[in-house]
Amino acid sequence: MNKNKIVVIGGGYAGLRTIEKLAKNPKNEIVLFDRNSYHFMQTDVYDLIANEEDFAHVSVDLFTFCSGFDNNVTFIKQDVTNIDFTNKKIITPIQRYRYDYLVIAVGSRTKFLPDVIGLKEYGYGVKALYRAMYFKQKFEMSLFNRVEENGTSCNALNIIVAGGGLSGVEIAAQMASYSREFYSNNNFICRKLNIMIVNSGEHILKGIDKRLVHKSAKRLDDLEVVVKNNRKVVELTKDSVKLSCGEIIPMDFLIFAGGIEPSALVYNLNLQKNSAGYIATNKFLQTETYCDVFAIGDCTTIYHNDRIVAPTADTAEQMAEICAKNIENLIYGRVLVEHSIKSRGVLVALGRNYAASKIFDLYFSGYFAYILKKLVEKIYAKRLDIRSHRGCKKIFCS
Ligand SMILES: Cc1cc2nc3c(=O)[nH]c(=O)nc-3n(C[C@H](O)[C@H](O)[C@H](O)COP(=O)(O)OP(=O)(O)OC[C@H]3O[C@@H](n4cnc5c(N)ncnc54)[C@H](O)[C@@H]3O)c2cc1C
Repeated sequence: MNKNKIVVIGGGYAGLRTIEKLAKNPKNEIVLFDRNSYHFMQTDVYDLIANEEDFAHVSVDLFTFCSGFDNNVTFIKQDVTNIDFTNKKIITPIQRYRYDYLVIAVGSRTKFLPDVIGLKEYGYGVKALYRAMYFKQKFEMSLFNRVEENGTSCNALNIIVAGGGLSGVEIAAQMASYSREFYSNNNFICRKLNIMIVNSGEHILKGIDKRLVHKSAKRLDDLEVVVKNNRKVVELTKDSVKLSCGEIIPMDFLIFAGGIEPSALVYNLNLQKNSAGYIATNKFLQTETYCDVFAIGDCTTIYHNDRIVAPTADTAEQMAEICAKNIENLIYGRVLVEHSIKSRGVLVALGRNYAASKIFDLYFSGYFAYILKKLVEKIYAKRLDIRSHRGCKKIFCS
């Protein structure tokens, strides 16, 4: 039987959903390439940092995930460095691998702005699991050190979050909420944790519904998170941050959530891109030049009614479903479907037991929204978990 050889680069939200859909057809032979051996659930990173979850809960092993299908999905842990579109081969440091259809789903990465002095040396990103883990350990250790110092004088711990988007707000709120409990549970005398969000826009959560912005700002205020709008971080030293207004603030840690850019591979590809460097795609999610090459998730930009659709896990999964459908349509000579993807909702986690959400035009906040957020995360994790358990059984029991 002639198989359809489909290569997926990137085992993130977009890549895994594409595989789930395409693997249903036994004639499809799918190979996933990822530079890491795990899928990182970035949407849960705020819980990881604030010690609500350990890394096992925010990652899924890609070998076992791929083994959970009916023998038509293989995982190869290799970094893809380029693509030879003419000969239909992807290139890694180890091999050149042929495809009939290709899905590029390599996501984005933290953009450590080169004009911010000291950012790379002293700032932490959270888009890579190892960076988030490193920050989490430092954060917990610093709280502990403050407890050890406990006594007549205790120095405050100053954490700056640069960037008032969804990830910056969620991380700041969760850290504030966690540290409150950390101190109150143990009756420690020294409780001083200063968390500040430095945001270049007029308000936090740019592009997100006004009511959610208002709710989130109020909640941050209740958690004593200071928000400085209309300011940028311009310089970092080991223990201070300089803002664009000239102010210098003491700093123990800075988390940089102030910008993203396409993953490194995208820069090497001889493909049409938009002004921000993301892969340009048509309404079927194919790349502009090659109809058998699709780009989905954070490495591309899509529009709805001429407005950019926010790059989220939900958007990535919706793209994956259209992409999988269109690959099958190409294989079987059927008409391709156009996407009309738009955001189905926003859930902002704002510390323990509190979230603000808008889902299909319905607003919720507080504990109910928090439960909704957790439910969405649990359903996603469960889906991958079931697949991985099947894979685990195959690897260890057969
Ligand atoms: C802190 C934080 C909080 C967030 N919260 C939310 C939220 O609450 N809700 C929401 O919907 N979205 C949220 N997002 C956004 C969401 O995580 C992204 O939109 C989503 O991860 C995009 O999925 P993706 O599949 O395109 O990319 P990713 O999930 O980033 O996956 C890309 C994959 O490609 C692999 N890769 C990259 N380059 C190569 C290469 N050259 N070779 C091989 N493999 C490669 C990577 O290892 C990775 O596994 C959040 C993001 C962050 C950082």
